[in-house]
Amino acid sequence: MRIGIIGAGQLGQMLGFAARDLGLEVCFLDPSPAPPAASCGPVVQRPFGDPDALADMAESCDVITYEFENVPVAALQTIAGSVPIWPPAAALRHAQDRLDEKQLFEELGVPLPGYRAVDTRADLAAAATELGLPLVVKTRRLGYDGKGQFVVRTGDDVDAAWRSLRGQALIAEQWVPFDFEVSSIGVRDARGNVRIYPLTRNVHRNGILHTSRSPVDAPELAELAAAAMHKLLEHLDYVGVLALELFAIGNQLLANEFAPRVHNSGHWTIEGAVTSQFENHLRAVAGLPLGSIESRGHAGMLNLIGEITAAARELDQGTLHDYGKEPRPGRKLGHITVIAGCAEQRDTLLNKIEQTVT
Ligand code: AMP
Repeated sequence: MRIGIIGAGQLGQMLGFAARDLGLEVCFLDPSPAPPAASCGPVVQRPFGDPDALADMAESCDVITYEFENVPVAALQTIAGSVPIWPPAAALRHAQDRLDEKQLFEELGVPLPGYRAVDTRADLAAAATELGLPLVVKTRRLGYDGKGQFVVRTGDDVDAAWRSLRGQALIAEQWVPFDFEVSSIGVRDARGNVRIYPLTRNVHRNGILHTSRSPVDAPELAELAAAAMHKLLEHLDYVGVLALELFAIGNQLLANEFAPRVHNSGHWTIEGAVTSQFENHLRAVAGLPLGSIESRGHAGMLNLIGEITAAARELDQGTLHDYGKEPRPGRKLGHITVIAGCAEQRDTLLNKIEQTVT
C-alpha cells in the first residue's frame, strides 16, 4: 500500500519511519528543498495546494493524509473523488479557522474560554469590555506556536493590538489563568474504533512546546479530556490521529485548539507507548487494526529548539531524535524522550537532561 503524505517536515519523517516498520510505502508533497522526510520516500517539490501534484499523488497512492494543517482545503477537494483522504476535510476546515474551531467546541458542548470574533477596532474594544482583561487576540488563520497573537493586559494595549494584527480576521479570547496545560491524543479508525493515549501535561515557552510529560496523575481530568475527544472524533467521522490541547484550571478543562494530525505533544509515544501516534495514524488511514495505546512507563519529552548542542549528542540517557534541519532560532530541530518507572524519576532525569543540553 502506498500512502501520500502532504508535508515532509519532522512529522512526515516520523510517519515515514513508522511506515517503514509497517511495510507501507510513502511519498510526500512539500515545497521546501531537502525537507526532513526526504530520507523516507520521494518528495515532489511543489506547493501544498498544487493541483497537478495533488492529482499525480491521488493517481499513484491508495490513500492521502497530511502532517500539516494549512493544506488548502479547496485544492484537496479536487482529488477527493479519486482517492480517500484522511483525516476528513471537515476537520481540516475547522482547524484552519479559530472561530470555526471554537464554534465547533460550543456546538459539541466542550467547555472553552469566552471569545468574540473581531473584525474592527470597535469589536476589539467591545470584547475587552465584555470578556474582561487580560485577553488574547489571535489571528483566525495561519497562527501557530504562539505566532499572530497579542495579549491585551490593559485598556491602553487595545490600540497596539489592533495596530499589530489589523487587516486579518481575528478573535479575542479570555486569558485563562490555567494551572497547567494538557493535550489528549486520540485515534479513530474507519470502523469507528477509538483509542485515546494517556493524558499529557505540556509546558510552553514563548508559545512553543517545551516539555511534555505523560501520564498525568489526574483521572478526573483524563476523563473530561477523553469525553471531549470522543465527541470530536465521532462528530467529524474522523479517521487518523487527532490532538486536542486544553487548559486545566481547578477540576475543569477548557479547550484551546485541536490539530487534525500527529502532534508534537505525542512524540513521547515513540518510546513511551506500545504503539506510537505515528504508527496508529498510519494504521487508521491504511485500514489496519489500531495498536495498543498503553504506556511503557512514565514518559517525558524535551524539545530541542534553535540548536542541538554537543552535550545533547553526548547524552548517555534518553533518546535523541534529530530531524536533520538547519539550525535557526526558534526552530524545532529535534527532541529527547525519557522513560522512567515513576513520575519522580522521570522528572529528575528530564530536569537533569534539560540542564545538560541547554
Ligand atoms: P495557541 O497557538 O493558541 O496554542 O497558543 C500558544 C500558547 O499560548 C498556549 O499553549 C498557551 O500557553 C498560551 N495561550 C494561548 N491562549 C491562551 C489563553 N486564552 N489563556 C492563556 N494562555 C494562552
